[in-house]
Amino acid sequence: MFEKVVIANRGEIALRILRACRDMEIKTVAVHSEADRDLMHVGMADESVCIGPASSLESYLNIPAIISAAEVTDATAIHPGYGFLSENAEFAEVVESSGFVFIGPKSETIRMMGDKIAAKKAMEKAGVPCVPGTNESISEDMDRAKDIASDIGYPVMVKAAGGGGGRGMRVVEAEEDLVEAISVTRNEAGAAFNDDRLFIEKFLQNPRHVEFQVLADQHGNAIHLCERDCSMQRRNQKVIEEAPAFGITAEQRERIGASITEACRQIGYRGAGTFEFLYANGEFYFIEMNTRVQVEHPVTEMITGIDIVKQQLLIAAGEKLTFKQDDIKIRGHAIECRINAEDPYKFLPCPGKVTHFHCPGGPGIRVDTHLYNGYTVPPYYDSMIGKLLAIGHSREGAMTRMRGALHEIVIDGITTNIPLLQDLMMDDVYVNEQHNIHYLESKLSS
Ligand code: ADP
Repeated sequence: MFEKVVIANRGEIALRILRACRDMEIKTVAVHSEADRDLMHVGMADESVCIGPASSLESYLNIPAIISAAEVTDATAIHPGYGFLSENAEFAEVVESSGFVFIGPKSETIRMMGDKIAAKKAMEKAGVPCVPGTNESISEDMDRAKDIASDIGYPVMVKAAGGGGGRGMRVVEAEEDLVEAISVTRNEAGAAFNDDRLFIEKFLQNPRHVEFQVLADQHGNAIHLCERDCSMQRRNQKVIEEAPAFGITAEQRERIGASITEACRQIGYRGAGTFEFLYANGEFYFIEMNTRVQVEHPVTEMITGIDIVKQQLLIAAGEKLTFKQDDIKIRGHAIECRINAEDPYKFLPCPGKVTHFHCPGGPGIRVDTHLYNGYTVPPYYDSMIGKLLAIGHSREGAMTRMRGALHEIVIDGITTNIPLLQDLMMDDVYVNEQHNIHYLESKLSS
């Protein structure tokens, strides 16, 4: 096992990785910006290195500074967490060429999954159901593009192969708008992603977001840890996640699970990963794979009892998975609420000093956060300050516990989205499993 791991991230996930390392008696190095000297994990790590000023570009996205920190501390491996450099193929490549282990998949795999056309081709080959459409980039021939779109049937979506973060995609309702949409998206994609390849697929009107967690080792073994529903979103940002996803049958789980684990074997995937699907009319449609640990991984940990971050470390160190698909059993239902330092209805970030923090507890409650009394949330980064989780025997039981924990938690001094989360936990549409990815925005605008 690794002697020493660099945690190339901040906030709650950095603390989560530190805890997994401690559990495995691995030493840790916290790398942090000048604005993050007071982060909880920086104080807890065996060593810490300041890698630059507050700006992410000069610190958490600064590849040479992170590599230097690994060199001076004599570390063996680097965990990228989520966000920042976690899905940056160049970073993975530089980590490995500098003689460290990248705790994640191979750089080629990250690059392939970052190319939506290549990813879709690989998925179709493995039998993973994809959104109907082309898996070729569309040419300059607009008559051909019109034929493709009318074969698929309007509305369609024009998407950039290199798109990400919800950018580089456009819905087209009718043929007269297609040429304009292609031209605008092509220009945008060329400028933003330096890649102007586009493809067309069916636009699904009211889907849910359902994603599957996988673990794959370096010896050809791949298993899935069931699925999560993450349909409660605002501007493509997940707000509430849960596992298992409601209304998914054991047969569907087995069928999709078999196709994605086959895909992992075919592409030589290693590590933890997530296959994201849109789910509509009882069918799954692959949209993308995330080649890293997800924010919402703890709901899966709670229902399966498997420590996903620990598995990432074991796999990166070359260990074989010690369980098989049949060993994975779902116990109960888990819900996660993301707690953000922001206005609950206007969504403006509200950084500042936490004057009093009370962490809820009791059976079935888990809180992943780096908050403590007196901590100042800096204005420079994502506004998520923690995740509140509850598990129950049933979805109803998990919701009841979550309502209790949302009333118990106290975060004074800053404004948070807790009132919105309390509201959603009582929302009839949410409670009755009637929501899709558009529900939260429509509720907020009504
Ligand atoms: P990104 O890499 O930018 O996150 P995704 O392909 O994951 O792009 O899509 C982001 C979001 O856009 C999805 O979660 C979904 O809400 C919407 N979306 C993407 N493709 C479709 C589609 N074919 N039909 C309907 N909505 C879509």
